[in-house]
Amino acid sequence: MNQILLLKYGEIVLKGQNRKFFDECLMSRTRFLLKQLERKSSGNFTFEYAQSTLCIRAENGADIYAARELMKKVFGIVSVCTAYETEKDMDAISDVVKQNLHELIGNARTFKCEARRSDKLFPLNSPQICTEIGGIVLETMSNLSVDVHNPEAVVFIEIRDKSAFIHSGGEKGAGGMPNGTNGKALLLLSGGIDSPVAGYMIAKRGVSLDCVYFESPPYTSELAWQKVQMLAGKIALYSGRIRLYAVPVTEIQEEIYQKCDSEMTTILLRRFMMRLAEKVATEAAASAIITGESIGQVASQTMPSIVVIDNVCNIPVFRPCIGLDKEEIVSISRKIDTFGTSSLPYEDCCTVFTPRHPNIRPTIEEALAEEQKIDVDKLVENAFLNMKYINIQ
Ligand code: ATP
Ligand code: MG
Repeated sequence: MNQILLLKYGEIVLKGQNRKFFDECLMSRTRFLLKQLERKSSGNFTFEYAQSTLCIRAENGADIYAARELMKKVFGIVSVCTAYETEKDMDAISDVVKQNLHELIGNARTFKCEARRSDKLFPLNSPQICTEIGGIVLETMSNLSVDVHNPEAVVFIEIRDKSAFIHSGGEKGAGGMPNGTNGKALLLLSGGIDSPVAGYMIAKRGVSLDCVYFESPPYTSELAWQKVQMLAGKIALYSGRIRLYAVPVTEIQEEIYQKCDSEMTTILLRRFMMRLAEKVATEAAASAIITGESIGQVASQTMPSIVVIDNVCNIPVFRPCIGLDKEEIVSISRKIDTFGTSSLPYEDCCTVFTPRHPNIRPTIEEALAEEQKIDVDKLVENAFLNMKYINIQ
């Protein structure tokens, strides 16, 4: 009796002619993650795609539970199920059920059996399998009762072409589209709560990510940079490899602070960030920019502010959090495990020079007038020249 992972594909099963490309991207991500796991622990994994299910077998003591946790982060997979695999024989199936009943039923007080039989030559039909296995469960755990409408636990028996699978149902997978099936975008990653969530949401649709972080040394510290690296690492568990760029904006912030209207400083800095992001995107071969902005959240995210910021961009800007409340964003950040890291208290470059009374209704004309007071092109060029990057797996 061996344990096996059964992975169900999502939307990609609806793909027609280019289905193969989506399959390959999904397999390549799956293989990469399991190879990493093999390197860290003993054993190995084998793969087989059959009957719309990707089956992963743990061989030589490989850790199936660790593999399951990794597979729950693979985009393109809608359900992950740990099952027992045995011969297509009622005695063997009954033995597996008896030996693993506590795991299959948990603390439930009611249950039902559900059988699926793709091998129509199997001697028992689905209702007969359910009756026999249900009887064994009741014999073994006398405090249980059957509830076919609303059971607390379900024992599934699947009779497939080559073997039988027994399990108690799948867990929700990450959904979305496989990594790398939809181009690349550049995420503005700030160290706050919103931007990692925004990156995750776009990566979920199969978009590869690189990230850019704007830092203001010495106003921002090495700890803030490390925090951003940690966040990129957490996003990469879903999105795959990320190149994380860091661009210093100290000179830009000081120039704006000294020469421009204090009410406009945040908006002006944002416009610089977007200009720089576009240059980084070209360098990274990314065709869009992603931010964690949400309408009205702060002064720089009012509708007029977003219009003025967007005005300097020549490539699409995706803002997947735009219509979400903070609470909804926090709930996603908890789910993807970035909330704790995002909540670490290291300073952000924007907070360093935050004006007391930011202009919440700026216009493009006002921004252009302020930018006449500084050398925009030179400041952008200098910041870009001092960019550094690291690769995050
Ligand atoms: P918070 O949870 O504090 O709102 P945030 O990441 O959304 O965090 P905001 O000040 O609301 O921070 O900034 C809006 C968006 O602008 C961010 O989501 C991010 O995409 C981008 N951004 C802001 N500051 C930086 C920065 N220092 N480096 C990179 N991107 C930034
Ligand atoms: Mg925000």
